[in-house]
Order: sequence, then structure tokens, then C-alpha cells
Amino acid sequence: MTADRDLNRRITEIIKPLVPADAEEKVQRAYRQFNQIIREHIRNETGLRLTDGDGRSVGLPIKIVDGFPAGFAKLIDRYQDPVLWRLIVGQPKLARLMDGLKFVMSEWSAIEAWAGLPEPARGARPHLDRTWEAGAALQKAAIVEDIRKQLREINEDILGAYIYPPGRTPWIELYWMPIAMTAGMLEVEIADLALVTMAHELAHGYTHQGHDIDGQIWDTSAFRAADLRIKEGLAQFYAQTIADKVAIRAPGMRKAFDEMLKLQSGPYTVHTQWLKDDPATQSKRQPSQRGEIVRFTMIAARSTKGLTYDAWIAMLDTTQNRFKGNGSPLFE
Ligand SMILES: [Zn+2]
Repeated sequence: MTADRDLNRRITEIIKPLVPADAEEKVQRAYRQFNQIIREHIRNETGLRLTDGDGRSVGLPIKIVDGFPAGFAKLIDRYQDPVLWRLIVGQPKLARLMDGLKFVMSEWSAIEAWAGLPEPARGARPHLDRTWEAGAALQKAAIVEDIRKQLREINEDILGAYIYPPGRTPWIELYWMPIAMTAGMLEVEIADLALVTMAHELAHGYTHQGHDIDGQIWDTSAFRAADLRIKEGLAQFYAQTIADKVAIRAPGMRKAFDEMLKLQSGPYTVHTQWLKDDPATQSKRQPSQRGEIVRFTMIAARSTKGLTYDAWIAMLDTTQNRFKGNGSPLFE
């Protein structure tokens, strides 16, 4: 859910000028083009359906909304400084400036001695040095680094949300402004980051209320209470898997996922550690086998009351060992 109205209005004033005018339209278009495709891949990967045993649809609408989720909004509100946010969003451009300067400066002695040297470039070295100094200082501005760090530490979805109030049909919200702003920070396409967010939130919805082959779902109160590392780990695992699956139609989605991961921590990165202890899993197993191991563990976890994160990891290992023997994932 987005932050309250006054807070949202304050934040929007700061951030809206920093994102492209067509940002919302880009998120809308990505949604229209990929909504069904992503859902189909999630169904295939999880084996879960958003219909009950009688074929009734559970429904999981996606709304593209103005505004910021609470954690992100509070962070921006703490620093109500448009120039600061302009600098944060513009960091990749600053990095390119420094890259170009590095090239010119490292070649400078040859360039300066070049017979074709254009007049305005003559004697430019001190100015290049000065620009380097200014750029490096802006890059290293302690507050910019500090805010990136605080952003990484927000332990809630900052670009979208899966919302499931008691007694109501759940829905997904995609926050087009945070998506556009973060895409700028990461130098990825807005549409690609929107797809990553969509896959992540849909994965929450499917893992929670998708019906397995026996018609079971993840009990809502148990899902609500479940360790964030299990819920977010699963959403991240499936978002990454889907990014690879749609690579031909959306070649930038995996890059957007990987870049976003650099801005995340804690429960949003645990999936990178899953099934890591066994070198065979990493090197020899096909991604589809990894997917099967996670899928079987997830289905079992959904019916395990009070599952701790340690118990989840132990279940992953158990499932993996069953695969090792005969390639069969069966739970007896
Ligand atoms: Zn999430």
C-alpha cells in the first residue's frame, strides 16, 4: 500500500520531475504486453493455478498506481532535497563522465602533442584535472552513498506490492514512479524493471493462493506469519527464473533483475544462497532441476505450520538429496 496522501504528495513533487514524462505509459505498456505471458510462466514453474478445484478463478488484478510505498516514501521524505535526488538518480551519467575523462586524461600527452589538436583543446589539462576533482567529489558525496545504503536496507517491496487484506480479493500494485526513478538509478529500461516487479509480485500471489494439484493453497495466516526470507526468496527466485524464460521477448529483463539485486539486501538476496553447498547443483544441474527442487520444497513448505528459515533450508537440502539418488523428486 502506498504511503499516506500528504506524504505521497510531498514525495511526488520531488521525484516526478526526475522521471521521463512517458514513464507511466511505459509501465502500462509493459503490463499489457506481458501480463499473460508472465502469469503463464509462473504457472508452469510453480505448478500452481489461480483457480480452485471447481475451476473458479481466484483473481489477482494488477493496478498501476501513483505514489510510493511507505518505506521508500519515508526515506525520500527524510531528505527533502531535489538536488540530492537529482544527483542520486543521475549517478550512472556521472560515472560515464568519469569514464570519458579517464580516457582523455590517460591519453593526454599523446593528444596534446597531436598535430591535429583542435584549438579549444590546447592547454586543457588543468581544466580536465579540475573537472575530475569535481566529478569524483560528487560521486563520493557521503550522503549519496548513505542513501543508497539506506535504500538497500528497506525490508519491503519498494517498486510494487502484493496486498491481501483479510476477507478481500488480493491484488497487486505497481508503483510506476519508483520503478521509473529506480530504473534511472540502475540505468535499465523502465519497461524491463516493471516486468521484474510484476514477476516478483505475481510470484507472491501464486505461491500464496495458487492451488496445487491437490487443490491446496498456502493458508493465509500462515503465509502472513511466514519468514520474509522464505516469501521474498521465493518471489526473487521466480522473478529471476521468469526473466530467463522470457529472454527472447524481453532481452533486458534479466539485466534489470541483476542490477536491482545490487540495490537489495537481506531477504531479497537469500535465494542466491539456496542449493549452493552442493557443487553439483551449481555446475551440473540444469536450471530446470533447480526449479523442480525449489518447487517441491515450496509445495511442502506451504503445508508446514510455523516453518522457520532454518527448517526451510533443511527442506531444500532434503529435496535435493532425493533428486541426487534417482532423479526422482517424490516425497514418500
Ligand atoms: Zn516481495
